[in-house]
Amino acid sequence: MKYQLVLDYHLGEGALGPYLEGLSEGTALARQCRRCDRVTFPPERVCTCQTKDNLPATYGWKTLTGRASVIHRTYGLGGGFALARFDGADNLAVCRIDNPGREGTAAVLRATGEYRPAITIEIRGETIETID
Ligand SMILES: [Zn+2]
Repeated sequence: MKYQLVLDYHLGEGALGPYLEGLSEGTALARQCRRCDRVTFPPERVCTCQTKDNLPATYGWKTLTGRASVIHRTYGLGGGFALARFDGADNLAVCRIDNPGREGTAAVLRATGEYRPAITIEIRGETIETID
């Protein structure tokens, strides 16, 4: 049985506002812990150094290049997905692959537009090229 479910809701962006805006524009904005300098993209709410406060005084934002290395990829009904590490980030990101037919592990972040805030990458092959 196939059933289409349409949702129309608004989620407050809160502290993730700069990160989500970056995704829509194709900018990899990472969160950097002021205590240990750990850089996370996507941003992690609790740092591995156990800094839990979600106050601006405990973290800052750092713009990454947007380049990423694909570690693993999989395919499903919704398309291709990857586990990737963005250059300069200390964690991994689950990403949607914009061009799943392309081979390679070098990728760049793609702009998703206003209504699809998700980490979306474009595979560029084995050699990283310049970002558009
Ligand atoms: Zn930390």
